[in-house]
Amino acid sequence: MKKYDIKTANLEFKNLLSGPAPVGRILNYIYLVGTIGLKHKNGNRTTNLQNGVGYAWTTEFMIGLGLVSLGSPVGNAFKLELTDVGTELFALMEKNYKSFDEGSTNASIDRVRKQIQSCNPRLFDSFKNAFINSYPFKILREFLLENGFYYKNSREFINNLFEIVKNQYDSDTKPYIQESRTTTGENRVPSLLQLCKVFNLLTENGYLQFDEFEIVKIDFQEIDREYNKKELIAAEAEERALIINSTKDLISMYGEDGNVIVSAIVRNSSLQTKFKHNLTIQQKGKCVVCGMEHKELLIGSHIKSSATSDVVEKIDHNNGLLLCCNHDKLFDRYLITFDADTGRIKISKDLTVADIKRLNLSENFSLSEELLTKERQDYLRLHNTKYEELEKSRKHK
Ligand SMILES: [Zn+2]
Repeated sequence: MKKYDIKTANLEFKNLLSGPAPVGRILNYIYLVGTIGLKHKNGNRTTNLQNGVGYAWTTEFMIGLGLVSLGSPVGNAFKLELTDVGTELFALMEKNYKSFDEGSTNASIDRVRKQIQSCNPRLFDSFKNAFINSYPFKILREFLLENGFYYKNSREFINNLFEIVKNQYDSDTKPYIQESRTTTGENRVPSLLQLCKVFNLLTENGYLQFDEFEIVKIDFQEIDREYNKKELIAAEAEERALIINSTKDLISMYGEDGNVIVSAIVRNSSLQTKFKHNLTIQQKGKCVVCGMEHKELLIGSHIKSSATSDVVEKIDHNNGLLLCCNHDKLFDRYLITFDADTGRIKISKDLTVADIKRLNLSENFSLSEELLTKERQDYLRLHNTKYEELEKSRKHK
């Protein structure tokens, strides 16, 4: 990826990471860069497309996404150049391009997804790939890994991320005005979330949920032994070193303004991988509920959520169960849990009899005795408290 001096190029860090650019506009702009040679104008927020200049926050976000780079100056603007990834997207759009339009008042994710697919089915995969490999996505992903996968509602999520983003790299000292369309995270974070939603990386059922399974590719080939606690703690230190290095890369790319937020957010997931390795070995490579053996479908599920666990708890195999993706999701959403003393399954009344059958669940199921270590029982008690709390508010289906 091309490096920029954020100050000389007069780019805004917040726009590079989370510019308020709707999904369709990004694709329209790529097309315009490829055909009319769209330009970027420093700091300009009002220039319209008549002059062949894109809205700066969008063009900056595209730079952050690695789709375009800044070329030679043209007057007081800069020529935008498609990167390799941008060129690929442009080529896929070229033949069947029709302006991407998400709808005027309520941007529809479904609509833009259909537009992308009907333009060229491969465009969807290429765009998704470009996004997954971009810094903005990686940072969002690490933010979610660090802070938990779901929030009570999207508003809370947006405000949380915005507060962090704003406090740490936005020099704007004015109080946060939620209604403002141009200066707040309300506009920025949804761009990332919209992209995630278009590519099915986040699902929304009253909760926003990050689908870790889809992103983290675990190298199961590597599994040949267990990692002991000491090794895992060493891995944690290694991770921290990686954070520092990633931060340095980002500083050289984006300038020091991003230092704080990046160091707080960028993490490597090798630790989680090792945690899963350990569970895979100890729990014989099978979902402890249904016996699923296909490696791609298995997940190392934390009993006490990773977000609320300290370092030792995060890597403690007693704080984990190897589950298939369905059973992991049920457990993670507190739709099933296991009695700490007997290991017997508890199934939420929120599930219908038909779904319980589809999910291959039986009221008679119990965790095997060897899984009921004292430590795991303690973690399960925490999980059960939360389960019971939620269960009280649920309606019988
Ligand atoms: Zn299962």
